[in-house]
This record gives sequence, structure tokens and C-alpha cells, in this order.
Amino acid sequence: MIHSILPRSRSFRGVLRRIAAPLAAVQLVVAAASPALAQQQRLPIVRDAEIEALVRDYARPILGVAGLQKAGVDIILVNDRSFNAFVVGRRMFINTGALVTADTPGEIIGVIAHEAGHIAGRHQEKLRQQLERAQTMALVATLLGVGAAVGGALSGNSGLAQGGTGIAAGGSEVARRTLLGYQRAEEIAADRSALTYLERTEQSAAGMLKTFQRFQSALALSGARVDPYQISHPMPRERIANLETLAQQSRYFDRRDPAALQLRHDLARAKIAAYMEGPAATTRLFRNDPLGLPARYADAINTHLRGSPANALAKFDALIREHPRNPYFHEMRGEALVRANRPAEAAKAYGQALALDPSKSAIIQIQRGQALLAVGDKDSARQAVKDIRGALDRDRENAMAYRHLAQAYGMLGEIAEAELATAEASYYSGAFQDASIFAMRAQQKFKPGSPSWVRAQDIINTSKPRAKK
Ligand SMILES: [Zn+2]
Repeated sequence: MIHSILPRSRSFRGVLRRIAAPLAAVQLVVAAASPALAQQQRLPIVRDAEIEALVRDYARPILGVAGLQKAGVDIILVNDRSFNAFVVGRRMFINTGALVTADTPGEIIGVIAHEAGHIAGRHQEKLRQQLERAQTMALVATLLGVGAAVGGALSGNSGLAQGGTGIAAGGSEVARRTLLGYQRAEEIAADRSALTYLERTEQSAAGMLKTFQRFQSALALSGARVDPYQISHPMPRERIANLETLAQQSRYFDRRDPAALQLRHDLARAKIAAYMEGPAATTRLFRNDPLGLPARYADAINTHLRGSPANALAKFDALIREHPRNPYFHEMRGEALVRANRPAEAAKAYGQALALDPSKSAIIQIQRGQALLAVGDKDSARQAVKDIRGALDRDRENAMAYRHLAQAYGMLGEIAEAELATAEASYYSGAFQDASIFAMRAQQKFKPGSPSWVRAQDIINTSKPRAKK
């Protein structure tokens, strides 16, 4: 299922609460991609095994030829209906709305290639320096302008006062132009890099072109909603025209995305649209193929979220009969079983999903842990601890997993471990003060120098200076 962290729409939050109800666990945890980022800005992050695996598969070949495979570029999904993709440091953020908007994998792969071009070109670091310089320039100019204006006002000379504001406006204009000129050069460089990456991975740039053309059209600009990507990526006509000429020179221009990838793309869109919007949106999305697999997947998820658990289960069972090796159908069946208050069977369904999942997603393992917790006996709680700990080895910053872990330890009466897990959950949610408090409580119960004691100390040490900010 899609775990949305800090969702935007209230109705979606309500839906998640209802799903979460059979489990004592609280699925909604305020968190962000990293503690540092959580401090800067709270982004509504989405965690979902199926969508994450898909986007990583889109990115892997591109990052490989961009020389970024060892750089540990992380891709993070943002729960937002608008189209956006951006880079912060080594993290690439992609809005779920971008996936729903894109008709083909190539439209997203092209955007990933473009953003990879920004990372490989270290544009962000340069942009930051440039920004600082531009801000300094603007500041200096403003000071000069204000100084002149005040001087003019004091001397009673209105001409000089006007001159003062003129200097101020002129100064920030220079700063603005410098910055925009720089961005334009970076955009062109990222476009060129993207074309190279697509060529080397033998993929067409037609998808990238389609995405950019969408943002270029006057229609998009006059629409009720202006996507953030459009603002961060000005698409002057000549840039698109250039790109089109270059893209068409490739012998791969007419190559289409593999059918299997297109299907995964559509299944991911079905899931996003069902979770984020509901039946009206999924019907619209698949109006050309209302009986196709993605449409039926969307229907099953809509039923799971909004209808009876028994109906949802029947629909997931039918999908599994048709595609017994699709891990995410088993995962959704697990979700439906949790909702039907059949946690032991749900744990089995997640086990099947895990066995079939090529990405060995920590998220599914955490879900199995959650289901085991809901079974309610100590043996299952011990199994849950094992599952969640194993998942955390691969997904270290998962605040939600730490909350479930805390609950499991609580059931087993291991209070110190429960407090340490709560400290971790708070830490990775950016709640550093709480992290520090729970870590201190836990530490008093551990043997000094033991691994858990040391970890508690780490949290105390790293939480304090941040909390002061
Ligand atoms: Zn760009």
C-alpha cells in the first residue's frame, strides 16, 4: 500500500485512518526524507514498494551512464498532485502527480535524465554560490539605493530621492538577470546531458520532449494550475526547438518503452490515482481501456479503500489468479486481509509478496511486521521485531518502522528497547527534543557502554544542537 507521510488532503488522511484502524499501529507519522531535511521543510513523503521499485528501475541505467551509480543518489516520492521533480543535494524528488500525468515511462525517464544532468554538473552547488552572490549584489545595491534615497529626502531634493530608488531597482535587476542567465545555461547543459544519457542507454528522448512541450504550451501557462516544474524550468521556444532537433537525430527516437515497463507504469498510476483521488480519477485515467489490468487494479484498490473488505479481497484474488507472480498484488491482498481483521493471513500474504519482490523492499517486510503485531501474541511480536529490525538494516531512516518496533518491544515488556525505538522514530521524524528525552530515559536502563547505550548517547549528542536551531 501507499504509506503517505504527512498527507495534504484531509480525506486521504481519513481513508488512511480507517485502514489503520484494525491495527493498533498509527500509520501516519510526520516525517521527512532525512532529519536535516525535516528541519528545513516538511515534505509529504510517500513510501510504497511498487512505485519506489519502478522509479528506481527508471533511474538505474541513467545514473549508471551519468557516472552517479556510486554517488548513492536516492529517489524520494513526494505526495503532490502537481508535476514536479527536483534535486536537493544527492536526493532526487519526484512528485507522484508527475507519474500520473506521464502517459509513458519515457516521460519520467526523460525528466530523471535531465535532473541527473543537474546532479552530474553539480549545478545546485554552483547555483547556491551564484544565489549567494546575487543576493549580496542585491543587498549592496539596495543599501546604496536606500542610502541615496534617504540622503535625497533629507536634502529635500526629490530628484535625488527618485535617483535613489532607481539605483535600488537597477541593482536587484542586475542580480536577477545574472541569476536567470546562469539558470538558462544550466538548463541547456542538463538537456544536453540528458540526451547523452538517453542515447547511451538506447532510449528515446521523445518522452522528455513531450514533458517539456507540455510546459511550453501557452495552454499550460494559462491553466488554473501552474506546476512548480514549469516555474523552475522555463521552456523558451528555442530551447524546445533545439531539443527536438537533437532528439530526432537519435536512431532510438522512435523506440518505445518496453511493454512490461509500460504496464508497470500504468499499474503504479492506477495505485496513485486510487489512493490520492479515487474512482472518478481512475475511471478518467483508464477511460480508453476500462477493462484492462491497470483499470481493474485501480478498481480493486478503490474497493479496498472505500468499499467492503470482502469485495476487495475477491478482486485482489482475481488479479492474483491472472498474475500469480506479481508481488504487489499479494501485498495489496495483505492490506485487504489486515482491513478484514485477519492479520495472520495478512502476514502470509506479505510473505508471498516478499518472496516475489525483486527489489526485496523493506516496506513490505515492515508491513508483515505490522500484521504480526496485530496478531497479538508474544511469539508473533518476537517475529515482528525480527522483521522490522531486518527491514531497518536496509531502510535506516524509516521513522514509521521505529514506531512499530517500539510497539513490538512494548508488547514484549522490553521497555528500554521500546524507548530507544521511540527515540529513533522521533529522531527520524525531526522531533529532536522528543528523541533526546526518550534516548535519555532508555539509556538509564541500559548497561553503560553496551551497543544500545552507545546508540542512545549518539541520539542525545546529535539531537541537542539541532534542537536549539
Ligand atoms: Zn532543469
